[in-house]
Amino acid sequence: MNWITPFTLAPGDRLHTRIVHTALVRDLYRRNRVPVLIHLAFLGFLYLVLREQLAAPGWLRWLGSALALAALGRVVLVFRGAQLEPAMRRPNPRFALFTGAAAGFGLLLGGVVLAALPHLYPGRFLLLTLCLVGLYSLACITMAGSPSSYGATMIPALGSLALAGFLRPPPGMGYLFSVAMLGYMCALMATAFQVHHSLFDTLVLTQRLEDLALRDPLTGLRNRRYLQEFMQEETPRVLRRWLADAGEALNRRSISLILVDLDLFKRVNDEHGHAAGDAVLLQVARLLKEIVRKPDLVLRWGGEEFLILALDSDRVAPPLIAVRVHEQMAGHTFVLPGGQTLRQTCSVGYAIFPFHPERPEGLGWEQVFRLADESLYGAKDKGRNRLQGILPGPGDPDAAIAALQAPDPDFPKALAAGLIQIG
Ligand code: GH3
Ligand code: MG
Ligand code: MG
Repeated sequence: MNWITPFTLAPGDRLHTRIVHTALVRDLYRRNRVPVLIHLAFLGFLYLVLREQLAAPGWLRWLGSALALAALGRVVLVFRGAQLEPAMRRPNPRFALFTGAAAGFGLLLGGVVLAALPHLYPGRFLLLTLCLVGLYSLACITMAGSPSSYGATMIPALGSLALAGFLRPPPGMGYLFSVAMLGYMCALMATAFQVHHSLFDTLVLTQRLEDLALRDPLTGLRNRRYLQEFMQEETPRVLRRWLADAGEALNRRSISLILVDLDLFKRVNDEHGHAAGDAVLLQVARLLKEIVRKPDLVLRWGGEEFLILALDSDRVAPPLIAVRVHEQMAGHTFVLPGGQTLRQTCSVGYAIFPFHPERPEGLGWEQVFRLADESLYGAKDKGRNRLQGILPGPGDPDAAIAALQAPDPDFPKALAAGLIQIG
């Protein structure tokens, strides 16, 4: 059984288990903010109820202080723990801490209650029971992200009440109190699993819809919308690493942007039909995925345009990847649904992010993408079936950035001034 959830995705499901687990843990942190504060308020109440007993043996006071510290730790965890979500990977140490803290909190609470109960007046015992039962009924829903964390905190806390009732049955109730408490614990655990199951289903459905919105239905590749989301997260990371890296600029990790457009693709549709066009697009997607390394991304940018993001590239990578793509596309034989074969060339435009090694923050990724797009137009203008890229020139870096930031850059002028190089 998994420690985040007992439920799993079907084998071969395109949705990653990690995505669902991250969503569950995120939900757990988010929903636990208010209940954890209620827990803190409950500790104040517990102190009032147990005041006389806490004043008696020293070790009980230590137990009470440890309980308060554990509660504060949980507050910090649910309010701060979720901030590093993007970096969340399995096994997730923060989630282990959360479950450990939940178990620690439940055990400490149970210990305090068990030690103090024999000295309590029946009215206070009843009040404490009501509060604990209410608290863990609420937590049954708020901790739906993880039944293991819920059980780890609820069972020791309510179990201590059942044990206390067993050792000293409340007047007039006999063992009925303990039996009722054990039954209630089982009912809460069963409900927690049900609530968790429906939360799991809802999160899976939400993640599936999100995944669908970020994919192209024909090829299954990521789409333009995904690029926006991905680059918003990835480019600050690349820039941070770039600025922290003191090594040779040539070796620093960058992102190569390779834009691929099929040449005269309209003819394929016109001559062989739309289904044949679709089959070629599918095969192009497959071929591009084979050409790039595993962590690199291939996106369908538009109709017959694809974008490759080669992550962790060195500075000389873009033209090398562009050549590889261009050659392999030209050498590939595409098979149409009727069994006929055809060759399909492409034009390629490329650029690199960060653009200028001396001014890494000078151009945003959208501006670098525009350079790849401009290069692709250049390749088409020169007669198609070729590649072209824009890379920084030996000229003044500030002048290069200023020229390229203009709404409509004058590329020939920038080239003449040595601000850019056309590859
Ligand atoms: P160029 O070399 O200038 O890029 O010429 P082209 O014919 O490739 O470019 P154009 O932009 O004129 O036409 C693109 C064609 O791509 C038009 C459309 O029929 C085809 N296309 C776009 N999306 C799809 C698709 O999903 N399926 C099919 N079968 N064809 C598509
Ligand atoms: Mg085209
Ligand atoms: Mg096109």
